[in-house]
Amino acid sequence: MQFKDIKGQEEIKRRLVKTVDANRVSHAQMFTGEAGSGTLPLALAYIQYLNCPNRADGDSCGECPSCQKIANLQHPDLHFVMPVNKQGKKSGEAITSDTFLPEWRKMVTATGGYFDEQMWYDTLGLENLQGLISKREADEVIRKLSFKSFEGGYKAVVVWLPERMNIEAANTLLKILEEPWDRTLFILVSAKPELLLPTILSRVQQTVVPGSEFDARRALAGVDAEEGSEEFELFVELMRLSYNDKHLELMKWAERAAALGRERQKRLLENFIRLTRASFMLNAGLEDIAYLWGAELDFCRRFAPFIGPRNVEPLVSEIESALGQLRQNGSAAIVFTHFALAASKMIIK
Ligand SMILES: [Zn+2]
Repeated sequence: MQFKDIKGQEEIKRRLVKTVDANRVSHAQMFTGEAGSGTLPLALAYIQYLNCPNRADGDSCGECPSCQKIANLQHPDLHFVMPVNKQGKKSGEAITSDTFLPEWRKMVTATGGYFDEQMWYDTLGLENLQGLISKREADEVIRKLSFKSFEGGYKAVVVWLPERMNIEAANTLLKILEEPWDRTLFILVSAKPELLLPTILSRVQQTVVPGSEFDARRALAGVDAEEGSEEFELFVELMRLSYNDKHLELMKWAERAAALGRERQKRLLENFIRLTRASFMLNAGLEDIAYLWGAELDFCRRFAPFIGPRNVEPLVSEIESALGQLRQNGSAAIVFTHFALAASKMIIK
């Protein structure tokens, strides 16, 4: 995740970048705000920036091995703790976040990090259970941090929803927060900081990420009306043709997309990612954090039933792969032809 992938919150990005550039990174931090405000994406972009050897213009490069591993949530020095649970769990059975890392990676990738607690529990198949962060989990964090950094940069732990720690876990974590570990960064990402122990609150440097007011929503949409209309139209057209299995017309669609300028093509695909994720959120009943209105909202509402947990991730990675090929100057005609056919197969009919 790069800062530029996060729409809005410019003030906070600038401040975060400054702390890294000035070498004033506080070892225990907390980002607070509702799921739609982008607290988790900001934490990820911040860690990526901190560890990138090729920072430029206030952002990580997005291409070096460190950036790529962090973007894929596969960096050996990046650890995640989140509330977990299992339906039908036996008493005494210990469940920790690591068990659910594949689901976590999928969720973060599919939504760009914009999801809330309930959406996470739905992914875990929890019907009437809440997730929990246990003492065992906190012990595990200490164990992991006792290793030397694998890649020589910062070790980072992201604790998503620390308010779900039980008291024993909170007290264990408190010990770590009290003594700074060398080149180790803790980021708590909280939606309800009022539920945390005051002793924890007093140990962390807080970044309050403002909620999504109308202006922020506009920024999040990422397209301005005049310029965005053709991108949106191409998206609608592609989905319509895919749904109706119009192969010949899909080829014409690819020609049309290939005729756009290179920057335009990239923006087109970036918008596809945004609209696909937003449709998935609508499908999941999360209209509040889908950040859509007007024609986009109307269309994505109709399109949402076809974007579910089974195909959202393959579809997004197909778009990302096309985007990657364009960035490497692949032939637009080939990229869009392949992409149109591949994407059309992924729409649930
Ligand atoms: Zn980098």
